[in-house]
Amino acid sequence: MTKDIATPTRTKEILKKYGFTFKKSLGQNFLIDTNILNRIVDHAELTDETGAIEIGPGIGALTEQLAKRAKKVLAFEIDQRLLPILADTLSPYPHAKVIHQDVLKANLKETLAQEFEGIEDLMVVANLPYYVTTPILMKLLEEQIPVRGIVVMLQKEVADRIAAKPGTKDYGSLSIAIQYYTEAETVMVVPKTVFNPQPNVDSAVIRLIRRNEPAVKVENEAFFFKVVRASFGQRRKTILNNLVNNLPNGKANKAAIEQALSEASVDPKRRGETLSIEEFGKLSDELGKSFA
Ligand code: SAM
Repeated sequence: MTKDIATPTRTKEILKKYGFTFKKSLGQNFLIDTNILNRIVDHAELTDETGAIEIGPGIGALTEQLAKRAKKVLAFEIDQRLLPILADTLSPYPHAKVIHQDVLKANLKETLAQEFEGIEDLMVVANLPYYVTTPILMKLLEEQIPVRGIVVMLQKEVADRIAAKPGTKDYGSLSIAIQYYTEAETVMVVPKTVFNPQPNVDSAVIRLIRRNEPAVKVENEAFFFKVVRASFGQRRKTILNNLVNNLPNGKANKAAIEQALSEASVDPKRRGETLSIEEFGKLSDELGKSFA
């Protein structure tokens, strides 16, 4: 029986056979630990009815483990050099399909509707390329693709910011952007030694479970995110100063900002990092009366 792809010896053999050299610029750090991979896949709670979406299959280490449990796997890979390798390593898994595309340029809604016709339960599971972690996550969430959730490996520092709670140093506009759409939790911290080559930063796995409704109902979603970003402009400044300095026409409308803070029961001396998503929602609706 062939060994799993994600073992140090098999990975080495595959890389050697194809003369493959890693491209740092594409975030190529491949997993070489089947145990870690299985734990990642466990967190996704796949069944034989699930469609799995992977971003960046590499030489197929995670794809193989997904294929063993899911009904179908669809993987987006940007690096053309990996296509013949994947055709070889994934040949025992005909229900795993690789699309040669930059996931950031993909029409996900259309592709998923075509590829997963008749499959209701969809999960994204990936070991993300770290240079584009946030744009990928924001694309998946903002385009509202019909997935149950997302289980991904990323930089620990980014995982900490995504799952942070109000009042902590890591809490910021990224925490709110992700928690607006999902319930976020760090489920594993992963040592560098399970990758080839080893990345420079620590890694973690987060699980994002999509909410049926956003965490807070707001009048104007785009303006809500503008208020959140403005509030975290300079972390050491009060929310009042940040809104005055960072909202368009904020300086000319200081009185209206003070009024909105008062209506939303937010002390103008507080810092953005202490406000819950619900408080930001209320504040954005009040500010929207004079700004949006
Ligand atoms: N899944 C494999 C594993 O765990 O061993 C490889 C993960 S490696 C961290 C990231 C992969 O994403 C690489 O194969 C890289 O070529 C691919 N990649 C980088 N940028 C991409 C993009 N914009 N769209 C699709 N794939 C991308």
